[in-house]
Amino acid sequence: MKSGVFEHQEIAELVEAYRPVWALGHALSLMSWDSETYMPRGGVEERALAKAELQVLRRKLLLRDELKKALERAKSVEGLNEYEEGIVRVIEREVRIASSIPEKLLYEFSRLREEATHAWREAKAKDDYSIFKPYMEKIIEYARKIADSLGWEGHPYNALLDLYEEGLRVEDVDRIFDAIIPESKAVLEKVRSSGYFPERHPLEEVEYRRQDMEAVNREVLDVLGYPWDRGRLDVSPHPFTISMGVGDVRITTRYEGRDFRHTLFAVIHEFGHALYELQVDPRLKATPLAGGASLGVHESQSRFWENVVGRSREFTGLISPVLRRHLSFLKGYSDEELYRYFNIVRPGLIRVEADELTYNFHIYLRYRLEKMMVAGEIKAGDLPELWNSMMEELLGVKPKGYRDGVLQDIHWSHGSIGYFPTYTLGNVIAAQIKAKVDSELGGLEKLAGSEEGLARLREFLADRIHRWGSTFPPKELVKRALGEPINPEYFNSYIRSKFLRD
Ligand code: MG
Repeated sequence: MKSGVFEHQEIAELVEAYRPVWALGHALSLMSWDSETYMPRGGVEERALAKAELQVLRRKLLLRDELKKALERAKSVEGLNEYEEGIVRVIEREVRIASSIPEKLLYEFSRLREEATHAWREAKAKDDYSIFKPYMEKIIEYARKIADSLGWEGHPYNALLDLYEEGLRVEDVDRIFDAIIPESKAVLEKVRSSGYFPERHPLEEVEYRRQDMEAVNREVLDVLGYPWDRGRLDVSPHPFTISMGVGDVRITTRYEGRDFRHTLFAVIHEFGHALYELQVDPRLKATPLAGGASLGVHESQSRFWENVVGRSREFTGLISPVLRRHLSFLKGYSDEELYRYFNIVRPGLIRVEADELTYNFHIYLRYRLEKMMVAGEIKAGDLPELWNSMMEELLGVKPKGYRDGVLQDIHWSHGSIGYFPTYTLGNVIAAQIKAKVDSELGGLEKLAGSEEGLARLREFLADRIHRWGSTFPPKELVKRALGEPINPEYFNSYIRSKFLRD
């Protein structure tokens, strides 16, 4: 490959040997996109079967001798450049993970996840935890088996954290929560007593016409600079971003029919994810480096655009003409009112509806429970009661049933344990990026108020973070891009300055 980023023949050969794995991943992404958007319901069963088969095939391709030999040859080369070291690291890590989990365990776990997700849907619909409990018990057991197969030091949860966020450990997560939870509590109390940011707003009740919001979302994406020749906006029950490669990164949103900020901010959030993948150095196309560094860094991009930029007063002013052109019910509301509506602060039971200030409490709760589960300190039967009492302790609200408590998220039924902390990591890194923008580009707020300013932000992110793809592990990337390791104090000063207005 004469791309200029891979100088050594051994690396070019390794990338070639990996290409079929990449191609299968590409096909699986397209199938996932289709499953979540346009596939008729009748296709579910065969699609699940086809995907499971292709995943097994992908694992085989990854573990085949040709690739292992190419990897060994590449590892013995001295003087690799940064991209080349990245290629070796990413492929070696993928091979290590795939080969440490025995095929039988992987297969059983994948079947369990399928069944557990079905059970979870039924349990949630009926608001009956007892339907899901036996599956949750198994999920915990298998999560621990997987941690043991991967190997761990210190705490078994470390092995699972690392799956989603390379190099993340419980000490890191503890340090972050120890820094932000007490401060968030203090800020929350003050915000609630001051009343500047409302707990409720009349616009929450206002219904919109779907075609009006579709037009708004498309025009806001124009303002943000989403390239329509390399992306699409579609509709799905849960908004998501999916990348087929550097040249095709698609997003979705949903339309609930009222409280228009939900569909709007879902679009801005997913735009942040998409921009990351769209701005990867095109020379990394079709290689294992052409994706984000980790889930946490990815979430930092979506949160940066959704919250730091999107919920700022200046950005509100920038998109206000678009909103007013399509939503006639905004007539009686000033831009200041819109800003407050976008920044309602209200402790609630549901994570996905949580505001910037209370969101991390929801993650903290799940993190504490997961850590105990994996260590064998609690069982599936203990979860609902622990959940409810922690919720009351952290946010002063108590679920009425299981649906708005322990059964609200799909993650555990998917077997995803160790995933939640990456959301908080994203919030923390987003605030750290804001501080860097403030000091280097002279005030994020000013940039958020004009299309030229947004273009400068896109360039800044491309230069510091996006173009590298997964060349560097997440901790190293943050340090290189922002000049210091992940530091939760930036999140604290961000919420203080925004919500206490000091
Ligand atoms: Mg996200």
